[in-house]
Amino acid sequence: MNKIFEVPLYPYAHHADEDTAAPARRKVVVIGAGPVGLAAAIDLAQQGTEVVVLDDNDKVSFGSRAICFAKRPLEILDRLGCGQPMVDKGVQWNVGKVFFDDRQVYDFNLLPEDGHKRPAFINLQQYYFEEYLVKRVRELQEQGAPIEIRGRNKVSAIGTHPDHVTLEIDTPEGSYNLEADWLIACDGAGSPTRQMLGLDFVGRVFEDNFLIADVIMEADFPTERWFWFDPPFNKGQSALLHKQPDGVWRIDLQLGWDIDKEREKRPENVIPRLKAMLGEDVKFELEWVSIYTFQCRRMEQFRHGRVLFAGDSAHQVSPFGARGANSGVQDTDNLCWKLQLVIDGKAPESLLDSYDVERVHGADENILNSSRSTDFITPKSEMSRVLRDAVLDLSEHYEFARPLVNSGRLSVPCTYDGSPLNSADALDGPERTRPGSSCPDAPLGDGFLLDQLGGKFVLLTIDADAPDVIEEQGIEVTRLALSVKDDKTLALKDRYLGKHESGVYLIRPDQHVAARRPSFDENQFRHAIRRAIGKE
Ligand SMILES: Cc1cc2nc3c(=O)[nH]c(=O)nc-3n(C[C@H](O)[C@H](O)[C@H](O)COP(=O)(O)OP(=O)(O)OC[C@H]3O[C@@H](n4cnc5c(N)ncnc54)[C@H](O)[C@@H]3O)c2cc1C
Repeated sequence: MNKIFEVPLYPYAHHADEDTAAPARRKVVVIGAGPVGLAAAIDLAQQGTEVVVLDDNDKVSFGSRAICFAKRPLEILDRLGCGQPMVDKGVQWNVGKVFFDDRQVYDFNLLPEDGHKRPAFINLQQYYFEEYLVKRVRELQEQGAPIEIRGRNKVSAIGTHPDHVTLEIDTPEGSYNLEADWLIACDGAGSPTRQMLGLDFVGRVFEDNFLIADVIMEADFPTERWFWFDPPFNKGQSALLHKQPDGVWRIDLQLGWDIDKEREKRPENVIPRLKAMLGEDVKFELEWVSIYTFQCRRMEQFRHGRVLFAGDSAHQVSPFGARGANSGVQDTDNLCWKLQLVIDGKAPESLLDSYDVERVHGADENILNSSRSTDFITPKSEMSRVLRDAVLDLSEHYEFARPLVNSGRLSVPCTYDGSPLNSADALDGPERTRPGSSCPDAPLGDGFLLDQLGGKFVLLTIDADAPDVIEEQGIEVTRLALSVKDDKTLALKDRYLGKHESGVYLIRPDQHVAARRPSFDENQFRHAIRRAIGKE
């Protein structure tokens, strides 16, 4: 039987748009059916917006790509109808262990508290993730949603205009032109869109090579992230081990800069390295072997008129921290509700500038974390290495040294501090729910809070009165009334009220807090709504 990445999931089919005398006009065109492009398209289609995804390929991606998917993207994927299959198939994990030389120096738990629907992380091959997204597109199509994927449609030229974008597209049957009111460029790290528009992409290339081997083996390692600094089986370098579904394990071995990549990739050189790590007797089979170098960089701006960049086309990080696809999904979560409001005429086009502000902030946070991890893992001077090793030694016995160890700060949601869409904090409640934060989950009887939020503006009241609906500037904000008395775990109180007896939150469609106060104040919340849609 063919594996999922060998099957054309969106094969080329001739489209009527290829035959029109004048180019057809579409509301939104997305370039790229990778995880980010598909997530964007699903989000828009769920809101009823016509969206066409163009991809130069017809299959999900193959090879060693993303495996670690974090809690926040899983919560977003729940809203997009793909969270459950991901969690069902994925390997769930919360614990990581750090080794130095031949000894474990400490372990950590990424989700030390209860009361969340989703785990800190799952491991899942990227091709499964993309498959579930394509299945969701098919499901939406069956329900009549205006979404399509056109496989083997390669965008070869782009023209930008004040109120639309023109595209030239190559197919197996020739070329055709299309127009789009809005274009979302999710065409990956090498983004042809970025190049066609002559746009910048600045940052750092890290001078190191990593051998990534995905191997199929029966092994009894626990479901944890294991990271080694200077292990006996890869002296002077690092190593990482992760479990994936279907008995596949990801092994990542640092090789150094000055190597012969072709030689290192040959099985006769890879297998002895893996045996040194796993033991001579462990039986395994190689699924993929590749060598990667990493870059941490981003575009200066993610919005260029009617062209919006998201995912790897806009920013790139090293895989330490799993911030690539995870942050790309957060880009689309931030972008799509804003674009929807602009398309519906409910918000000014300038609301899209806040996408740029907020997600550039997110990308900078990711690049900073990713660069710091890479610097710690691959010290660039003898002095840095001596200091790094001293921290590792200390961390075995002293708690204070552990936060200094950096084997990859794993993806966490970005808080949009300083966003122009936030209202001033009038509650002085818990830090983690300040304006700009993504809402932490909490158990609600037989369900979870985040299942009640998202896709629309919500007024969350906790032991506070407010109207059931407020309408402001054509935006309908519905109330979700909760009480801490119904929450035996106290999670709602801890996460949303702190020392206060009551609280009222304005929550954006992407589940981020726009404003909060101890009680409902109609005038103030109307201001907050206008501010959150870029009208104040
Ligand atoms: C070794 C490795 C490990 C990683 N691990 C993780 C991890 O654990 N967690 C994580 O979150 N991320 C990880 N990543 C990063 C992750 O793989 C990427 O961030 C993610 O694939 C980006 O998705 P995207 O949709 O932006 O781009 P892509 O997945 O690159 O998709 C771009 C799409 O655009 C299409 N395209 C390109 N040009 C054109 C054109 N001209 N016309 C039409 N279509 C076009 C391509 O065919 C492709 O389908 C890892 C990456 C690597 C290399």
